[in-house]
Amino acid sequence: MPVFLALLALVSAFISVFMGSFVLTRSPRERLNQVFFALSIIVACWAFVEFQFRMADSFDEAMLWLHFAFFWPLPAAILIHFVLIFTGHTRFLGRPWNYLLIYGPAAIITGLFFLSDSYASYPVERRWGWTFALPDTGFSDISYLYFPMMAFISVVLCFRFYYLQTEPLIRKQAKFALATVSFYAGVVTLEYGLLPLIHFWIPELTALTFAVAVSGFFGYSIWKYQMFTLTPELAADKIIATMSDALLLIDTRGIVINTNDAARQLLGFGAEELEGMQADKIFPEGWLRESIIEKQGIYGNIESVTDIESVIRSHAGENIAVSLSSSNFRDHDEALLGTICIARNISDRKRTEELIRHQSEGLVARNAELTALYEISNALRSSLDRDKMLKRSLETITSLAVFDMEHKGGIFVVEGTSLKLIASQGDSPEFIEAHRNMTVDDCLCGLAARTGKMIFSASSVEDDRHTLSYPDMPDHGHVIVPLKAMDAVTGVMYLYLPPGSRFDERQKKLMETIGSQLAIAMENVRLYEETRALALHDPLTGLANRRLMSLELEKALARASRTSKPFSLVMLDLDHFKDYNDLYGHAAGDRLLAGVSALILEEIRRIDLGVRYGGEEFLLILPDTELADAKDVAERIRIKTDAASFPVSDGMQSSGITVSLGVASWDETITSADILVARADTALYMAKSRGRNRVQGWMAQGRTSAD
Ligand code: GH3
Ligand code: MG
Ligand code: MG
Repeated sequence: MPVFLALLALVSAFISVFMGSFVLTRSPRERLNQVFFALSIIVACWAFVEFQFRMADSFDEAMLWLHFAFFWPLPAAILIHFVLIFTGHTRFLGRPWNYLLIYGPAAIITGLFFLSDSYASYPVERRWGWTFALPDTGFSDISYLYFPMMAFISVVLCFRFYYLQTEPLIRKQAKFALATVSFYAGVVTLEYGLLPLIHFWIPELTALTFAVAVSGFFGYSIWKYQMFTLTPELAADKIIATMSDALLLIDTRGIVINTNDAARQLLGFGAEELEGMQADKIFPEGWLRESIIEKQGIYGNIESVTDIESVIRSHAGENIAVSLSSSNFRDHDEALLGTICIARNISDRKRTEELIRHQSEGLVARNAELTALYEISNALRSSLDRDKMLKRSLETITSLAVFDMEHKGGIFVVEGTSLKLIASQGDSPEFIEAHRNMTVDDCLCGLAARTGKMIFSASSVEDDRHTLSYPDMPDHGHVIVPLKAMDAVTGVMYLYLPPGSRFDERQKKLMETIGSQLAIAMENVRLYEETRALALHDPLTGLANRRLMSLELEKALARASRTSKPFSLVMLDLDHFKDYNDLYGHAAGDRLLAGVSALILEEIRRIDLGVRYGGEEFLLILPDTELADAKDVAERIRIKTDAASFPVSDGMQSSGITVSLGVASWDETITSADILVARADTALYMAKSRGRNRVQGWMAQGRTSAD
């Protein structure tokens, strides 16, 4: 058994040395680990001495080893020291005098043992299993009390620490520390309190207990719960060292006193450069003072600020966008020592935000443009009537949200070198008057027509290309859009901007697109009107054909039925036209037909309609015209034709062409247009049969008026 105890002491000593060294090499700068190392070494020495003492061959040798153990009160003091650090009582250790409280008594007891001869004078009763005690003096009573007291303090500190601990891992460590010191406390209480009472001594018990506690209990805890590697403080240090946010400790003078790796990396400084540097060099001018130190100083209750967006300047002079949080740190007397700044690099986030903002702006703009084009295309397709289409288009273009323009503008068509105003919106009569006889040499619109280029002008007053003005013309800006169909400028659109406006590339592009759409739409309307005119008119004479005649007759009939106002028809036929053809040829006959048609058109009103009814027969529809008036018209045509001369061929003219005309007017009995046409035809027939070159009115019951 005693050999077993001796071997246990030896093994424990080795384990203690191993554990102490292991812990120290893990974190050599950590105070707790240093103290644990000291503890484990001294405990190992003690246990080794006990082992040698136990294994000694002679009394003298045993006494010699026993003398080496003069330091035995020291482990108790180191244990207290260790427990104070472990349980976070570093403030207590911050005061040098307190070390006297810890080490003073141990040093005194140790010194006394060293100087006294008390071990040597005490008889060893047997070679193995001897007992001995300190001589019964006041000193020995006090020193006996010392060990249980120190053990008790350790237990109380550890228990409190364990009890208050919430962090699970640290709590487990605390539990082991508590178990260790409790085990030790139990043994010293026995050895220095209870056993002496019954005069029983196990001298190496304390050493052995210590060795087992340190090597076994702490050893297990070091292995199992990373004791000493993961203390709260160490964990905090680890977090600080490995955290990705930059951490800067700045004192009240604004000097950087500590940094972590992330800070050095972010700023591109070495630790030596950074620490001791004026923080103003990193933060924007005066920012630190205003935002952190003074703010926290003035409003004493603000101890921290969180997530302020700012920039910091790197070693390379680059500005880095960061989110800054800062918190004051103070000493034990609450005096301000400085501030802890945590800077998170948000430049990537900023860049992404910027990109997204840019893209969404682009999308909004694109959306507005698409909307604009959609609205424009609706306007352009709104009508096949040119004037209606242009009016609607101008309204739409001038109120588009993508352009900030006035609701004013207009369109010219280019006819040779002159510009003809065909649509305008919001222009004053003075303006319209001033622009009546525009040419391609005038003003901005002329320039656009000449060059085919879009023109932007910020101010009509300052821009000397703006040559046309009229009384009281206000200052204004312009966008002038050439309207091009198949590369030729067919028109010009002018739009008004508030003076001093800007017009960016996007807007220019969009306006160009609108311009070309408008030009195409205008061309389409023109073609449509041309086609429509062709479909309803006779190509040789330019008069209406029978299709248009039917439509107009229906309208005239409907209007007359409604208003009871009569309308009249004149049927006209050339006299002896066959002979004319025979004489001059068919081509000359055609020319005569065109000539007579032109003459007819000159003689009738705009509301009247001249129709080529047959080969050389014409029908005139005269709305709101009574029979007598219609006869007058017919008579005028007859006389004019008779008097006119018509081209036959080169240089040759024919004259004395006569026509016969039959006239019929609407009355309440007329139920269909055909009846009235038939009456006019009948009247014509009468005119022919009465000798031609005359006007004949229709008479009821086959009668005809004599004159
Ligand atoms: P009338 O005085 O009785 O009317 O005698 P007319 O010779 O004019 O007789 P009619 O009215 O029947 O004339 C028909 C002639 O008109 C037949 C044809 O030669 C001629 N004609 C009809 N259409 C055209 C045309 O488009 N061009 C030419 N050149 N002649 C035409
Ligand atoms: Mg005829
Ligand atoms: Mg005829």
